[in-house]
Amino acid sequence: MATATFRFHGELAGFLPYGKRGGALSHACARAATLKNAIESLGVPHTEAGRLIVNGQPATLSRIVREADAVEVFPQHAADLVMDETPSFIADAHLGGLARLLRMLGFDTLFENAYADRHILDLLDRERRILLTRDRELLKCRDVLRGCYVHARKPEAQLNEVIARYALARRAQPFTLCLHCNVRLEAAESDAVAARVPEPIAARYTQFARCPGCERIYWEGSHWEHMREMLGPVLGEAAPR
Ligand SMILES: [Zn+2]
Repeated sequence: MATATFRFHGELAGFLPYGKRGGALSHACARAATLKNAIESLGVPHTEAGRLIVNGQPATLSRIVREADAVEVFPQHAADLVMDETPSFIADAHLGGLARLLRMLGFDTLFENAYADRHILDLLDRERRILLTRDRELLKCRDVLRGCYVHARKPEAQLNEVIARYALARRAQPFTLCLHCNVRLEAAESDAVAARVPEPIAARYTQFARCPGCERIYWEGSHWEHMREMLGPVLGEAAPR
């Protein structure tokens, strides 16, 4: 056993049991426990830990906890992440609203409302996606290399969290994915879709997009106006025009 002192910064304190929040806490760790084991036994999934400092020195999650260590754990922030390419996501079965909003912004997001945990872990293994979930136990799995605990309960607030954490605003390509199938939309000529949309729509709009997956037709109607209004504050300067 090694007893170490832990200090969790920022929103990480919210994962700790009531009574252990605020200030440093002393914790007896199992023999040969790593920092991953120790912080997860206190309730914080390893995916949420960003910078780790032990006795004033940077450390990694695999470091073994030693007697009298002073451990500082900072939240994961966009500035700590090196992302060469636009990230893609997999949303767990409870985050359908968030998945739809991410697709609206053009972010490839897998979602099915009946995903089993095992299926999610298999998908993560095959594809480099970030797992979005409110299930802490799922994030503690060592197979989850990239994951994000979503704190908010409402989809729009959840979207704000994910955008901030992965600095997504500038990478958004709104209205390029089908909201239902997560497939990239293709431009469609108005002649080609005329028979498939209501007559007033065909008369009024000239630009349409078609989903090659489900064949749905999208156009820039009041629906998109509403989305723009909602996404504008989220994306700031990068808002679609
Ligand atoms: Zn579709």
